[in-house]
Amino acid sequence: AQWQLQEIARRDSLTGLLTQRSFHDFLSKEFESSRRTRRPLSCAMVDLDFFKRINDIHGHPAGDHVLRTTADMLLKSCRASDVVCRYGGEEFCILFPDTSEENAVRWAERFRAELNAAPFVLGTTSLFLTCSIGISQVYEDTLTPEQLVDQADQALLCAKRAGRDRVVRYYEIGFGEELNPAEKNQQSDLFE
Ligand code: GH3
Ligand code: MG
Ligand code: MG
Repeated sequence: AQWQLQEIARRDSLTGLLTQRSFHDFLSKEFESSRRTRRPLSCAMVDLDFFKRINDIHGHPAGDHVLRTTADMLLKSCRASDVVCRYGGEEFCILFPDTSEENAVRWAERFRAELNAAPFVLGTTSLFLTCSIGISQVYEDTLTPEQLVDQADQALLCAKRAGRDRVVRYYEIGFGEELNPAEKNQQSDLFE
């Protein structure tokens, strides 16, 4: 049926999470509502550390298994009103309506600890993974939905640069302070 096709297009086929495209519809709605009602809205960008090694050492199907398991863990750790999406390869973006940055950081520290403690079983071996998380919220000078996600992404880059396996909030790296574009490019060169 038509609605089933629409539902499939909205969901990532590997993890069942929202795709980045469908995520943006939720993002615009939640952003508007947060600006209008002045209720907080927070965003987390979660990226698995050294994920490429899993593919290289254990093979692509093992990598897929890790992604599916991580997606399930994310869904279980979030509320029904939170919006969880697979933003890119091994990168996930979560929107937390009615949630301050402090509370989003609490969620992030809990999730990070949970992931660190959970063994991923791959055939006869099991391995442990870490992740880096960037957190931001809608501030007075957060003017577009894209900016909210970009702020979380900048915080994530800082977490990676600071050594991974940690949570960084945008507020820590400078309220309203943008990294200059040259520095941003340098960072992506380092980590891609
Ligand atoms: P960092 O700690 O800096 O995040 O390093 P990383 O290795 O996690 O990140 P990088 O961006 O270098 O590698 C991401 C890898 O994710 C590369 C890509 O092949 C893999 N990947 C992307 N999508 C999928 C997928 O659907 N399945 C599998 N198995 N791998 C995927
Ligand atoms: Mg990664
Ligand atoms: Mg990545």
